Amino acid sequence: MLNARELKEHFGDKLEENVLLRDFTSMAVGGVADYFLRVQKVDDLVGAVSYLSKAQIPYFVLGGGYNIIVSDMGFPGVVIKNEVKDIVFSGGNTEVIVGSGVEISRLLMDAASRDFGGLEFLFGIPGTIGGSVYGNAGAFGHAIGDFVKSVTLLIPGGDDRESKIVRHTAKWFEFGNRSSKLKEFNKLHPLTNKPIILSVKLQLCQSRKDVILRKMQENLKIKKLSQPLGVKSAGSFFKNPGIEKEQSAGFLLDRSGAKRFRVGDAVVSRQHANFVINRNKATADDIRRLAGQMKDAVRGEFRTNLEEEVEYIGKW
Ligand SMILES: Cc1cc2nc3c(=O)[nH]c(=O)nc-3n(C[C@H](O)[C@H](O)[C@H](O)COP(=O)(O)OP(=O)(O)OC[C@H]3O[C@@H](n4cnc5c(N)ncnc54)[C@H](O)[C@@H]3O)c2cc1C
Repeated sequence: MLNARELKEHFGDKLEENVLLRDFTSMAVGGVADYFLRVQKVDDLVGAVSYLSKAQIPYFVLGGGYNIIVSDMGFPGVVIKNEVKDIVFSGGNTEVIVGSGVEISRLLMDAASRDFGGLEFLFGIPGTIGGSVYGNAGAFGHAIGDFVKSVTLLIPGGDDRESKIVRHTAKWFEFGNRSSKLKEFNKLHPLTNKPIILSVKLQLCQSRKDVILRKMQENLKIKKLSQPLGVKSAGSFFKNPGIEKEQSAGFLLDRSGAKRFRVGDAVVSRQHANFVINRNKATADDIRRLAGQMKDAVRGEFRTNLEEEVEYIGKW
């Protein structure tokens, strides 16, 4: 249970109250978090999650907020904004250990300046390393899971047990189509406090800065041609049911007439039918209703069930 006095005593001035979450998500929807805490050091992230899980207070770890739809009713608990930004490159080989709050773009630029490449396909994907490993982010047929050597996780405790830090290899994560063991766990247990990614060890490869930067720009150019960037969206809304072009969610939605759909200010992009856009004043409820219509249309036309890539967060 939330005990406001105890929480404030524990976290002091760092704890903000009644913070509007729409200001922290790319979809620009979402109500109020009871409490909001920014953490810049891994020790503070561990401390906060350990304390909250032991006290059985619900928490949610927020990365960049680029792949979530937060309920208009907000989040009843503590939202922890992950700003842990340490990066350690190893000298001898091309490995890097990245704090989970590091932005993808920052990692790619830092790596490029050391002539380390391999992750150019991620360029243009907004968000943090924690969020990208959680959802196995990727593009152009590659995904971050293929480059993960190991992940350090915090497993939350409970009233009768302490939290613990463990390290797992990529195999443990069972990376799949925009999924991981953590994301699947959350789908099955949405009301349970979930494990937190503290840092990730990635295998990069030796390259040349100019080659890496050119590849990144080429990838971004292709992305810009096919996706509506610079608008309020959460990227691809649904997972692709298959790998062929005719099995992509965008293709199926387009052929089902979804580009005409709209609920309030939530619309389907004319450029890419798998992008839901908040034109200005859409609510989370508008977006979820629109998503329901899109799923119904594809089910009716193709007998295919689309599954959300984005996650619905908070009280619905
Ligand atoms: C314009 C646009 C284009 C996009 N293009 C792509 C694309 O090409 N490919 C692609 O894969 N995605 C794409 N996305 C989606 C998004 O960028 C990725 O899913 C990204 O990895 C989300 O990271 P985030 O930090 O914003 O996560 P958030 O949205 O903040 O969180 C997503 C989930 O990850 C969990 N999470 C975050 N950090 C941690 C942590 N440290 N430990 C445990 N759980 C954590 C959160 O609790 C939440 O459940 C796009 C999004 C936009 C807006």
